[in-house]
Amino acid sequence: MASIKENLERVRERISRAAERSGRRPEEVLLVAVSKMVPVERIQEGIAAGLSILGENRVQEAKEKIQALGHAGASWHLVGHLQTNKVKDAIALFDLIQSVDRLSLAEELDRRARAAGKRVDVLAQINVAAEATKTGFAPDELRSALETLARLEGLRVRGLMAIPPEPQEPEDSRPYFKTMRTLLETARGWWIPSLDLDALSMGMSADFEIAIEEGATIVRVGTAIFGPRPA
Ligand SMILES: *Cc1c(COP(=O)(O)O)cnc(C)c1O
Repeated sequence: MASIKENLERVRERISRAAERSGRRPEEVLLVAVSKMVPVERIQEGIAAGLSILGENRVQEAKEKIQALGHAGASWHLVGHLQTNKVKDAIALFDLIQSVDRLSLAEELDRRARAAGKRVDVLAQINVAAEATKTGFAPDELRSALETLARLEGLRVRGLMAIPPEPQEPEDSRPYFKTMRTLLETARGWWIPSLDLDALSMGMSADFEIAIEEGATIVRVGTAIFGPRPA
């Protein structure tokens, strides 16, 4: 099995090539290493190899890891569904909550952030393929959702995030990524005050190069860095 360092080098090279192919600079793409189910020692190995942002999908798991590793080496993003009763912990743990998928969650985040004297950075998650199994705002409710989010002073909305259906081939994801890019540009054009929409989080191990070609500014890569997760 290749080491995390070798995997990371390969992923970074692929990011660079995808960026260059599409006339972008590799530095425009933030790599979030998704470390769910990866033990602390391997995450540590990843940090030593140069990982600076880790992504987790469960608050409790992230809490244990962050307690073990500290905030010094890396920053942490939440990329999974957040239950309302875990909001307080999430605000304390994460530098970016990528998975704000409903208004009630946004309101609770706002309330808790203001109580903590903070402003929390978030992305609005979009259910881009209207999948019954996934949460997120529907594209046609995004405008009113963003108008509501913009009024919440405890939040700072930085952009959009999506998890399209699992692709058979990387190219299968391209239409969804195109939709997301268009949606972000459309949302910027609404000029909603106090929103700062520059992030587009899309692309995982199977399709991050296509995502970059279509404008991703954040890719979330797990398996290609840490190897397969236990089933
Ligand atoms: C697990 C996960 C990833 C990473 O998936 P890989 O296929 O291992 O790269 C990215 N985003 C989210 C939201 C995830 O849950």
